[in-house]
Order: sequence, then structure tokens, then C-alpha cells
Amino acid sequence: MGRKEKFVYNIHTLTYEKVVIPFKTRIWQAFGFFSVVLVTAIALLAVLYTYFPSPREKELLREIDQMSYKYEQLNGQLDMMSKVLANIQERDANVHRAVFGMNPMDQDVWKAGVGGHNPHPELSAFKYSGQAIRSTLEKMDALGLQLSLQSKSLDTIQQLANSQQQMLASIPSIKPVREDKLQKSMNVLSGFGYRIHPVYKVKKFHQGVDFPARIGTAIQATGDGVVAEASWHSGYGQCVRISHGYGYETWYAHMNRFNVRVGEKVKKGQKIGEVGDTGLSTAPHLHYEIHHRGVPINPINFCMDKLTPVEYQSLVNSANTANQSLD
Ligand SMILES: [Zn+2]
Repeated sequence: MGRKEKFVYNIHTLTYEKVVIPFKTRIWQAFGFFSVVLVTAIALLAVLYTYFPSPREKELLREIDQMSYKYEQLNGQLDMMSKVLANIQERDANVHRAVFGMNPMDQDVWKAGVGGHNPHPELSAFKYSGQAIRSTLEKMDALGLQLSLQSKSLDTIQQLANSQQQMLASIPSIKPVREDKLQKSMNVLSGFGYRIHPVYKVKKFHQGVDFPARIGTAIQATGDGVVAEASWHSGYGQCVRISHGYGYETWYAHMNRFNVRVGEKVKKGQKIGEVGDTGLSTAPHLHYEIHHRGVPINPINFCMDKLTPVEYQSLVNSANTANQSLD
């Protein structure tokens, strides 16, 4: 800016003298001028921005619109996932009830994740998108909680299945002597019930099933368990008793020899000894008993290996035929 020089006539010196405006004054003049310009500009812009959004604002508004739309879509997807999970939960409840006879998860616990207090108060400040975001977050929270509940519930089922598996392996379920090693058909075995005693020749309750087989034929444990006894047991001769848990015990009598010790763990199908003719016995055979909670029960109901249901039923029928037992 070209500087204008001012001159003033001095009546004392009768000369024109150059007027010097102090620097400070000039700064203040400039400042005043720019202030006015600035305030006017701001006022103008404020009016403009109030009624006409800037390109950037337009961009942001478009983004917010898009975001709201996406949040709605997310909410829809979350609702779907929630329905799928509810269906899984329902099937889980049925398995709990039907297979394990247990009460399923409490519905109040399951629904605890839905609604309730306001876990995201900061969203109240978002006038346009707050509700959509809140709804999404709440649904996510509920889903997360229900997923962890469902996962725990499946853990319980798995534990139950495992213990059920253990129970199935432990409860006696096979013949103590392989059927192809027997000297008689399974159909003519001397079974559980009143039989004529071979020595006393009177009707006596026979509390086991006799499996006739050659001396030395392998005898197998009929379920997982622990050897509770392996010794001479008066009339039973050389005898092994296995405790299977769940109230079940099996007795193997008149053995030639046994190859397990008291306290030893045995597996279903494991050889525990050999058929013999020891104790009160008239011919080589295995006398086999199953006790449930101390009471002898019919072992034939527990010889289910490699039998079709029809074969099994005919076996049960024939074993009930009254004949003479071998001990
Ligand atoms: Zn017997």
C-alpha cells in the first residue's frame, strides 16, 4: 500500500511540516478496520451456513444417512441371528429333557440379556443416530450373553454324555465267555431262577447263569470295573468279583485260575481268568452272577452283545426254561 504523506502548516515556523502518525496509532487503526471486516464476514457466513449447508456438511449428512441405513440392516441381521440362537437353545433344552432327563436352562436367565437398564447413556446425545446405534449395541450385548450361556449349556451336555458313556462301558453288557467257545447253545443254558440243584437234587434258587465251556476257556470282564475279590470263595471255588459302580457287581465262579488282583482296574472284554470246575460244581462251566445294589438279578438281560432284538428276546425266553443247573 502506497503511503500517503500528510503535511501541516506551522504558523510559528511558517513552514510546512510533515505530520508523523505514531506507529501505535496506525496499528490500532488497522486492527479496527480488520475487526469490522471480520465480524461482518462471520455474520454473513453464519447466515449462509444456517440456511445453506457447506459441501462438507452435505457429505457428512449423506454419511449419517448411509450409517443409519446400515445400522437398520445390522439390526435386522442381529434379529435373525437371535432367532437362530433361540432355536438352538430350544433344541438344546429338548436334548437336556429327553436324553438326560434334566431341566433345561432357566428362561429368565436366558432372557436376562434383553432390555433392562440403559447401558449406553452417551448415545442419548446423538439425536439422529443414537437410537439405531443403541438398538444395535443392545442386541449385540444380548447375543453375546446368550452365546456364552449356550456354550456353557453345551459344556454340561458334553459332561453328561461323557459320564453316560462311562456308565454304558461300566454296566455289564456282554457274555462272560465268548459264544463260539461255549459247549452248549446259548438257548439251553441253565439260567436264573429255581433249578434242580445238581448236588442236592432239590429245587433251589439259582442266582446266576451257567456257561458250559472247556477248562481253560477265557473268561472276560463283562463291563469296566475294579476287581473287588479274587480268591477261593467256598462253594464258588476260585472266584472273581468285579465292582462296576452304578450299583453293579459281577461274580465269576468255579474258575480254573484267575489272572487279576484285588484293586486292579479291568476293561469290558478283558480276560480275567479261565473256565474251571472248582468248588461245588459237577462239570466245567462258568457260573456268572450280576448283583444290582446287592440283589442278584438275571444276567441274561445283560448279555446283549452281537444279538438282534429278536435273538435277544428268544435268548431271554429260553434261559427262563426250567432245567437242571450245573451248580
Ligand atoms: Zn450256576
